[in-house]
Amino acid sequence: MAKVQINMKEGRAVHDENLIVGIDLGTTNSLVAYILDGQPVTVKTNDREEALVPSIISIEEGQVLVGEAAKQRLVSNPGQTVYSVKRLMGKSLNDVLHIQPYFSYDLKRDDPDALVRIRIGENYFTPIELSAEILKQLKSLAENHLKKNVTQAVITVPAYFNDAQRQATRDAGRLAGLDVLRIINEPTAASMAYGLGLQEGSNEIIAVYDLGGGTFDLSILHIQDGVFEVLSTHGDTFLGGDDFDRAIMEYWIDRHGMDKEALLADKSRGQSLRLLAEQSKKHLSLHESFSAVWNEYEFTLTRPEMEKLIDPIIQRTIQSCHQALRDAGLNPGDLSKVIMVGGSTRVPAVTKAVKDLFGDKLYDKLNPDEVVALGAAVQANILSGKDQRFLLIDVTPLSLGIETMGGLMDVIIPRNSKIPSKAGRQYTTSVDGQVNLKISIYQGERELVSHNRKLGEFILRNIPPMPAGLPKIEIQFLINADGILTVRAKELRSGVHSEIEVRSQYGLSEEEMARMLLESVKYARQDMQAKALQEAINEGKSIILATERFILQNEAHLSREETDALREKSKYIDEMIPTGDKDRIIQGIEDLNQYSAPIAHRMLDLNIGQALQGTKAI
Ligand code: AMP
Repeated sequence: MAKVQINMKEGRAVHDENLIVGIDLGTTNSLVAYILDGQPVTVKTNDREEALVPSIISIEEGQVLVGEAAKQRLVSNPGQTVYSVKRLMGKSLNDVLHIQPYFSYDLKRDDPDALVRIRIGENYFTPIELSAEILKQLKSLAENHLKKNVTQAVITVPAYFNDAQRQATRDAGRLAGLDVLRIINEPTAASMAYGLGLQEGSNEIIAVYDLGGGTFDLSILHIQDGVFEVLSTHGDTFLGGDDFDRAIMEYWIDRHGMDKEALLADKSRGQSLRLLAEQSKKHLSLHESFSAVWNEYEFTLTRPEMEKLIDPIIQRTIQSCHQALRDAGLNPGDLSKVIMVGGSTRVPAVTKAVKDLFGDKLYDKLNPDEVVALGAAVQANILSGKDQRFLLIDVTPLSLGIETMGGLMDVIIPRNSKIPSKAGRQYTTSVDGQVNLKISIYQGERELVSHNRKLGEFILRNIPPMPAGLPKIEIQFLINADGILTVRAKELRSGVHSEIEVRSQYGLSEEEMARMLLESVKYARQDMQAKALQEAINEGKSIILATERFILQNEAHLSREETDALREKSKYIDEMIPTGDKDRIIQGIEDLNQYSAPIAHRMLDLNIGQALQGTKAI
């Protein structure tokens, strides 16, 4: 019988020098933790004896600064300094257009459906590459502290992260030289830090209230026999302690009749006042009043005054809690515990509001900034097989996916997914009138299928002829409890379908598996470059096809000049494709998009051009 399962307890010999760390890759701060004498502890930064590394990257002339050093450059070099990159993970420009003013750095504006790229000087970086820099910093902090190599990690993500965002996080880990054994939800990690779900026979419903600097979410989890299920999650990705700071700042500006616009226009003065507001907020978490002299002003604030200012913000979080409860069909009384996460839960008014809603069952003894990383370390320890209280569940040892246009590997079930497992995605065709479609199934971690292991292939036949980009082909991967993989393909417009059972996964030795994993980390940068080039080529080919079709369909309404210019720009892309110069191909696409956008707006019949974008072609 074909199996893709591996008992990690026996299958993965983890040596002591191969310690697995837990990483909280946060929007504002990141940190790394490990297990010391059975207890999770965080790794402190060398300079500040502080576990938090600001999730900020600054790049100048190829030199990369991460953390506190990069934070220093937020005001002096805003164009080269990138913060909140987590907000961009796995997102297209379209996804983040509405929050673009929030970023002081430049995002690349070409194809709105393509993944976001960040411009720093003359270079473009993906959020994955920038997150990898943060992870590298954490890896090296841990290595210096532990005096051993750190090559394996568990990384946390918000419960609401989708597939693409999770995959991007995995890729960032790989690029940083880390084998990411598992991506786990932040609320699950926080629960594990408190030891929840670790006792046999556990069965309870809990909530995790996470209020950080810039984001808020409440997740409701059902924990049964060590399995964590997210029942609902609700929040606001632009709500947090920063809003408290802003409210305090505006209060002072108002009370002292200061010129708000002039103040905020001066970035360094604005930033300095913001820091003072934050300082007062933190002070008021422990004391009743605050006062300070700032330039010629004397600012004061009492705790009741601040509470009045921030109450509307806190109430927004409470509304989210109500919504999450409704979504899960629960009442506050159904929850046995509420875990507090994020620096802003240190504000007494926040704790009080949460208690008012849920009752006195708050878990807040652990440092709210560290609890997620600590829980990730607990999970890492379990995966390493060192925690004997746990029987490890079966997982997929390598990622499973299909070949898409240009020989790219598209992962459908990531490695280390629990068995049984089910996942699917939609694809389309790249050639007009295609009636048969070959679906090739691969196993492995590399970006090009040629480096992975082929498991099988089958053909989806009798697709009614349609223009490229129109068919909607759903591919589903199902792994049953015995580890047998079934792959199904269905063209949704016509209903034609086909499936295959894959039985040839046997015969991969542990050495082979280890080699495949090692190579995926070793060749990560090279692979991602090859993938980026292939994606640019795919996009270029699609746009050439779409442009020609657009011209044919709208010939009557286009001027000669427009037709010539469209063809010429298309030709440029066509000429650039064989050179393998990714940036030129992208530049050509951008140029053509910019030129054609106003023309396309003029035409009504845009459907086909749009249908080509957004879905990967096989
Ligand atoms: P996080 O994103 O979890 O690191 O949370 C950072 C947020 O927590 C920032 O808005 C901080 O100002 C806030 N914070 C940190 N410490 C305190 C404190 N003692 N009192 C109030 N807010 C705090």
